[in-house]
Amino acid sequence: MQKTVAIIGGGAAGFFAAIACAEANCKARIVVFEKSRHILSKVRISGGGRCNLTHACFDPRELARSYPRGSRELLGAFHSWQPGDTVDWFESKGVALKTEEDGRIFPTTDSSSTIIDCLTASATGLGIEVRTQSEIHSVSKSASGLFALSLGDGDRMEADRVVIATGGGNGSGGLKMAGEFGHTITELAPSLFTFHVDDPRINGLQGLSVKNVHVACEQAKLEQIGPVLITHWGLSGPAILKLSAWGARTFAQLDYSFEIQINWVGDQSKEIVRTLLNDQKQVAGKKSISAHCPFDLPNRIWVRLTEAVGIKGRCQWAQLSRQQMAGLADELVDSRFRVTGKSMNKEEFVTCGGVRLGEVDFRRMESKRVSDLHFAGEVLDIDGLTGGFNFQAAWTTGRIAGISVAKRL
Ligand SMILES: Cc1cc2nc3c(=O)[nH]c(=O)nc-3n(C[C@H](O)[C@H](O)[C@H](O)COP(=O)(O)OP(=O)(O)OC[C@H]3O[C@@H](n4cnc5c(N)ncnc54)[C@H](O)[C@@H]3O)c2cc1C
Repeated sequence: MQKTVAIIGGGAAGFFAAIACAEANCKARIVVFEKSRHILSKVRISGGGRCNLTHACFDPRELARSYPRGSRELLGAFHSWQPGDTVDWFESKGVALKTEEDGRIFPTTDSSSTIIDCLTASATGLGIEVRTQSEIHSVSKSASGLFALSLGDGDRMEADRVVIATGGGNGSGGLKMAGEFGHTITELAPSLFTFHVDDPRINGLQGLSVKNVHVACEQAKLEQIGPVLITHWGLSGPAILKLSAWGARTFAQLDYSFEIQINWVGDQSKEIVRTLLNDQKQVAGKKSISAHCPFDLPNRIWVRLTEAVGIKGRCQWAQLSRQQMAGLADELVDSRFRVTGKSMNKEEFVTCGGVRLGEVDFRRMESKRVSDLHFAGEVLDIDGLTGGFNFQAAWTTGRIAGISVAKRL
């Protein structure tokens, strides 16, 4: 008798699980259930519509370091399926890819439709049934070992194997199902967000980017270095997004109200900065401070920082007092800002929290509580930094789940 595999969730992880299963065992009936009208909707909007599908990091150990939650568990999984495999798979289907300077990988078309078309064509070619507007309300396992799935329209269906790939966040029906099977759901919190900061030193400077900034939060015991972007609402850019990911749970506990310390000149110490400032008295004594910045900083932020310590625009370097010099050094390396909330990062965001990882066998992505029940993607307590890492986790866990299901049919 033909076996049935039910994949709950028509996102990246669900599709990849279905395709992997079909590629490995074409005899099974594979059905993808998607509650909304559209499959792969996050793929469509991902990366600003360009779909940053993975990252050019091909060493599993290094790759795993980009996951604030899941790094230990994913390490073994990446030995089975890592970005190189993702690239090879899409290229084998005729999708041309390109790697940007920062390591992000996109289709050369710069359109997420290319990825959606590839996944849907592969699924169709393999005979996978895709049922949209088909929400699974509950799943139970009978004594016979079969799973019974209840659909939103009252319909019911039986399956031999189930993969829960319903994504993260409160809208993910899979979390309730996993809970009903006895799984622990770790606390959910958003990750990859920007900081809301209302401060005269940055107000009105939206769009300004500073290349090499050290940002720390003593309360969260976290620090990051990298570019910072000033936005309409506060601060964003790679250093802030990374900080938001590593501190996702702590910042939620602090109700997004905390202080950050910024060193605008990267990792340069206060002593070095003081010496550099002092040198300007000799080398640029006649120049106005506002027009001559001895650091690699955009002039507009430099002027704001000098104003913040009471230095007037026309003041010349030679006129700077010892006290002003010390104040400016402090402001450059230890600017304090109050974060009063978070704003959504439109390019990419994820949810931290989900099915507890210790309850899942990552060699098969199978539940340790219920045999033949598998998990893939963001429904798990896994989240990565921005840059293609989140889709990579979905491809990897989906692939392992799909192959494992196929092997045991
Ligand atoms: C705006 C935005 C941009 C992003 N850009 C990137 C990027 O460029 N690169 C990157 O790596 N990551 C990106 N991400 C993150 C990435 O999209 C997710 O990590 C990834 O989509 C997770 O895949 P998934 O299949 O686990 O979950 P999802 O993509 O969320 O898919 C889960 C699916 O399950 C369905 N579902 C839920 N409950 C049920 C149910 N009960 N029955 C049936 N169906 C159900 C949902 O409708 C959904 O379609 C972005 C996220 C967002 C929000």
